[in-house]
Amino acid sequence: MKDHPTVFEALQAQGISRRRFIKFCAVTASTLALSGAAARAFAQTLGSATRPSVIWMSFQQCTGCSESLLRSSARPLTVLGAPAVSGLSVESLILDVISLDYHEALQVAAGQQAEQARLDAMEANFGKYVLIVDGSIPTAENEWWMAVAGKSALSTLAEAVSGAAVVIALGTCATFGGLPGAYPNPSKAMGVGALMDAGLIPTRTFVNLSGCPPVPEVITGALAMYLMSLGPNGAPLVLDELKRPRVFYGKTVHESCSRIGHYKDGNYANSFDDAGARQGWCLYMLGCRGPSTYNACSLVKWNEGTSFPMLSGHGCLGCAEPGFWDKTRAPDGTLTGGFYTPV
Ligand code: SF4
Ligand code: SF4
Repeated sequence: MKDHPTVFEALQAQGISRRRFIKFCAVTASTLALSGAAARAFAQTLGSATRPSVIWMSFQQCTGCSESLLRSSARPLTVLGAPAVSGLSVESLILDVISLDYHEALQVAAGQQAEQARLDAMEANFGKYVLIVDGSIPTAENEWWMAVAGKSALSTLAEAVSGAAVVIALGTCATFGGLPGAYPNPSKAMGVGALMDAGLIPTRTFVNLSGCPPVPEVITGALAMYLMSLGPNGAPLVLDELKRPRVFYGKTVHESCSRIGHYKDGNYANSFDDAGARQGWCLYMLGCRGPSTYNACSLVKWNEGTSFPMLSGHGCLGCAEPGFWDKTRAPDGTLTGGFYTPV
């Protein structure tokens, strides 16, 4: 295979026929609600896109975002109800065709070898790589709250961002500060977008994939959409006002919740084990933040499409929204301290 094979060439090397690839593209295009013209361009664009180099950097995080990606199964893409294509999933597509050139938790190299691997990958693909960032970035104490190999986290990130074609902030820590940013935020943790806005790192095209952790299929789906957006006929990545892909974050988890009928009828559980809760009544009075939380949980579901929190009996914690974990974004978008109290 060539040094820089296209996506289709990479799949072909693994025995994926053009017919299966075209079928997969048609299903994915309809899943992502592309127009007819955009759908026709999709196969051509995705197939001819060069296999992208991905550099994944972790800061103040718990490795949950990496775990989430690794838990993405070979389940065929069924996001938003599209029919599955046997044997070819977004997950396999992404994990097979990206070139994951640096990932601290997954790579074999450690210490100086790991540092060199990161520098080599950045140099070889300067200006072209996809930079995935998980974890928030500390800015306290002259940015030396966190340092690796004699460099502060902030300066290491700034260096990596400068050579990136696109930056993906993965998880609520990297997008909005997350748990490390909760009061009193001793490390003065910030998300990637806030650092760009403050001029602390270079400004690049960036995408937020919030969630604690993000839904695995949202991670791989967003990467597929990025691949699609490459090339002259590529479909644009449509983002919301918080820089999240609308296809995954365009609706609240409330809108597709299994309990929404009871919400509309005013049937609310008053404790997690009362008769109403057992009958699937709405958990709003128990603090569910579903009505103000935009994510794909109740559409895509977790654990290979098995379930989502409200279906399992627990309210949404609002993990995909700014202010998580110690503030709450009310339905009108305002942030309040402490947990949101429904009225
Ligand atoms: S349980 Fe939460 S998400 Fe589900 S209907 Fe009630 S308020 Fe909405
Ligand atoms: S249901 Fe709410 S808290 Fe749970 S994962 Fe989804 S967005 Fe996060």
